Amino acid sequence: MGIRIIRKEGDEILKKKSKTVKEITPSILELLDDMQATLRSLDAVGIAAPQVGVLKRICIVEAEDELYELINPQIISHSGTQTSNEACLSVPGRSGNVERPLEITVTALNRDGEEYTIEADDFLTTVLCHELDHLDGVLFIEKATNIQEITNEELNARKQERRNRSRERGNRSRAYSRERGRLR
Ligand SMILES: [Zn+2]
Repeated sequence: MGIRIIRKEGDEILKKKSKTVKEITPSILELLDDMQATLRSLDAVGIAAPQVGVLKRICIVEAEDELYELINPQIISHSGTQTSNEACLSVPGRSGNVERPLEITVTALNRDGEEYTIEADDFLTTVLCHELDHLDGVLFIEKATNIQEITNEELNARKQERRNRSRERGNRSRAYSRERGRLR
């Protein structure tokens, strides 16, 4: 597994629309592994292929103690709205408020080419919407209001808070999944 370099705002590739994955080849699997390693090395919650310079519709989200690998993800329904403060690996040092849906249903393929569905709400919805935007060449900063500088200290405090929240929610959603008999 290799750590890949994150493309930053100003890099033209981040403005381009990514292409649908037609076949899950060994190089796609390697990309998924590298994206996961890169995400974890940066202690982040989401990463999209264009951020590592690959214009393919792939992203990885790790939230609420679950790792989601999404190939050709699509939002098939959404409801409600929420506004939360976002940051991005490709836009270092800045954060801003973005309005997103509250609940979404996303379909995607996993690395075995099987379609699965995520019913997301709250924080997971925000992360998924943010990553899916990357696949259409959109950065959060283009949609954000109240853009502010964010220091590393603030970013670390936020990560800690997120870990605590993830643990709580992860426990809840695992219990829910078990109940529904669809624990991944
Ligand atoms: Zn981002």
